[in-house]
Amino acid sequence: MIGLDGLDPDFLERHRHELPVLKSLMEEGASGKLRSTIPPFSLAAWPTAMSGMNPARTGVTCLPEDDFNWSVPPLNSQSIKVPLIWDVVGLNDKKVAVVNVPLTYPPSPVNGFMISGFLTPNRATDFTWPPEFRLELSPGYETSFDFMQHEVDREFFLKRLYLLTRKQFENVEELIKKKPWDLFIYVVSGTDWIQHYFCKDQGLPGWEESEAIMLDYFREIDAFLGRLRRSVDSSTTIVILSDHGFGKVPSSFVYLNHWLKEKNYLTFRGSLSASVKNYLSRHLRSQIGRASCRERV
Ligand SMILES: [Zn+2]
Repeated sequence: MIGLDGLDPDFLERHRHELPVLKSLMEEGASGKLRSTIPPFSLAAWPTAMSGMNPARTGVTCLPEDDFNWSVPPLNSQSIKVPLIWDVVGLNDKKVAVVNVPLTYPPSPVNGFMISGFLTPNRATDFTWPPEFRLELSPGYETSFDFMQHEVDREFFLKRLYLLTRKQFENVEELIKKKPWDLFIYVVSGTDWIQHYFCKDQGLPGWEESEAIMLDYFREIDAFLGRLRRSVDSSTTIVILSDHGFGKVPSSFVYLNHWLKEKNYLTFRGSLSASVKNYLSRHLRSQIGRASCRERV
């Protein structure tokens, strides 16, 4: 099972002829659009995809972006309150390999091995289970980098992204060939990060260049999928899935909590004026206008 984070169905449709492996998998197998979670954020959607339960059940509803700290992320694998697919498969005596799935740090014991993914703290060294499994990875293996901090330097961002991606590919390909497994899951996070970086240009002058940069990266992923496909026998079922799409940020938003407050369906704890002021200032600061999940209804 290969996860391509943020694989937008419209992007895929526009470029399917330039992504031959994805195209042939779609044509030879079954394909369709999946509905994402509400909210459609990676950290909410992956636990749902891996458990079949909605965010209210998994316990991960959204990313607390206001006080996000890359060194000590506010969410981790302990935030997930339900068993995930590798827990169930492992309990049935099948071997699992879990690589780079978001929100898997700290890694949990599995019947096989796990390498944690997005939101592994910077410079963590305990990102594998079993812990000594880290020594089997090639030197320089990275789980993620704080890509949002590199937004000012495009070349540096792309260089780091390709470096991390190729290193992960190299390791995943080796592990697929060498290790025993019944279920192998690898999630590519770079497909999400590059779109966070370039999707905001959609419809603006220079958009074609941004689209071409993203397509180049997807071509690299597509070629990697081709290599993986050749690494497994023909009886292996291949699933490619994603957690949400990508698009231009809309020009207006509905702040549901604000509307509920106006209609007297919502009250805030503590001082009303302070809570409302705090609530509004957070949203006005937020350029992408995500609804806060920390308001209480
Ligand atoms: Zn995502």
